[in-house]
Amino acid sequence: MLLGVHCSISGGYENAFIEAERLGIDTFQIFTKNQRQWKERTVSDEEGKKFKLLMKQHAIKIAFSHATYLINLSSADENIAKNSILALAAEVIRCEKLGLKYVVLHPGSSKEIGEENAIIKISEGLLKVLKHTEGMKTKILLENTAGQGSSIGWKFEHIMEIMDIASSERVGLCLDTCHAFAAGYDIRSKAGFDSMIEKIDKLIGLKRLYVIHVNDSRTMLGSRVDRHEHIGKGQIGLDLFGYVMKFFPLTPKVLETNKEGDMDIKNLATLRSLEI
Ligand code: MN
Ligand code: MN
Ligand code: ZN
Repeated sequence: MLLGVHCSISGGYENAFIEAERLGIDTFQIFTKNQRQWKERTVSDEEGKKFKLLMKQHAIKIAFSHATYLINLSSADENIAKNSILALAAEVIRCEKLGLKYVVLHPGSSKEIGEENAIIKISEGLLKVLKHTEGMKTKILLENTAGQGSSIGWKFEHIMEIMDIASSERVGLCLDTCHAFAAGYDIRSKAGFDSMIEKIDKLIGLKRLYVIHVNDSRTMLGSRVDRHEHIGKGQIGLDLFGYVMKFFPLTPKVLETNKEGDMDIKNLATLRSLEI
């Protein structure tokens, strides 16, 4: 089914597999390092081998990394922009070692330099990372954003423009349902969902969509505020998740909602019940 959650790696990568086992999921997303620090981490050959073996043993068919939140390829601060390129390249190298085929990335934000320049800067940064990691298989998936502050990627046009410049098979799309709704795509109805999907297909191509983050939204349509809510308990409501489960039966789906009170189990059960 390829339905999973974001798993914690605190205490080591193995812990993601323990959590996956407990939840009975066949895909997950992890941070490959502390996501709130620039401090780097390398993955040894030994660790890489062990991780790949665990994937097999736990029947995890596919797994995703989420890049650190500190990365901002379009930062006006040249130091941050440069560090972002280095950090993303290091992330791709870790993924390659671990056998993770995809890393999800927030495109960037553009407070000082404006949208158009930010899009160009993000694209150029991506090209540098791709060049630095040439020959590797890990794809970088640009995640649509809620449009909080001056973040880029809340319109699919932004992502299309980045993909046009950083033109590579190794750049793809991650669709977050909460972010799309907060950004103003009214996906509560089938017609609204269809129209967003058509737009993605026309601008980017659905074949470049590799993962869906299934999150409801605590905030209103077009709020441009990113607050995830449990499935069916937010402003989007349950119908959308039914459309997603039915329209994208083969696309991996990852929950990023609050885990407290064993809510992952409840949210997963809700999503599974919508499958048929
Ligand atoms: Mn994200
Ligand atoms: Mn997300
Ligand atoms: Zn979010």
